Amino acid sequence: MVGANAPPDRHTAHAAVQYTLFTPAAMTTHPPAHTTIQGQLTEHMRALAACRRCAQMIGPVVLGQPAAHGILQIGQAPGPYEGKLGRPFAWTAGKTLFRWYGSIGVEEARFRERVYMAAVCRCFPGKNPKGGDRVPNREEIGHCRAWLSAEVALLRPQLVIPVGKLAIAQVLESDRLDAVVGQTHRVEFHGLMTDVVPLPHPSGLSTWFKVEPGKTLLAAALRQIAAHPAWRAAFG
Ligand code: SF4
Repeated sequence: MVGANAPPDRHTAHAAVQYTLFTPAAMTTHPPAHTTIQGQLTEHMRALAACRRCAQMIGPVVLGQPAAHGILQIGQAPGPYEGKLGRPFAWTAGKTLFRWYGSIGVEEARFRERVYMAAVCRCFPGKNPKGGDRVPNREEIGHCRAWLSAEVALLRPQLVIPVGKLAIAQVLESDRLDAVVGQTHRVEFHGLMTDVVPLPHPSGLSTWFKVEPGKTLLAAALRQIAAHPAWRAAFG
């Protein structure tokens, strides 16, 4: 079910977000100077870039652009190359992800410009000694959730796209790909009613989206994203 909430006026600032959890004290004593949503997101990202809360995480904090078009993508965590390249999904999984978005008419540069790219954790967790990247632990996810919550309050997204099971688990009750991909879910997320269209993780290690029913469910999810009012307003 696709929600019918109309995109708000993107030039109107929402009420300033209250950074109540661990934002540097300076932000609570000096309210954001910018009055547009994009300006507030820029200010938010400046504070986020300085976050060093998780001792095991490897910086830098990886951020996208302050895109204020009502669409929020949530990845899992950056890999070893994203920090060096300075943007999320900058390596092989990103190639697959942007091929998916390209199939619905939006190339990488336009996507990066118009979709706010968040993640469950914004720093590289390091390698898992058993192979692959370390999965962020519960405490780290909790730390970074505060930043995500502030972004939802600022951006007020009408469309949320969690990518991969770790991200899906932050938004929906089930992270079983067969059960949730290919549907639009109307949920409350950080106090906001919004539409959620989950995608599988585009990792080369995953086979889910290459075989049935994953192929068909992924195609359905991409169709739902393309048809969503927020997507059409951003890219129409
Ligand atoms: S993962 Fe998130 S909360 Fe942890 S240090 Fe990086 S930006 Fe801060």
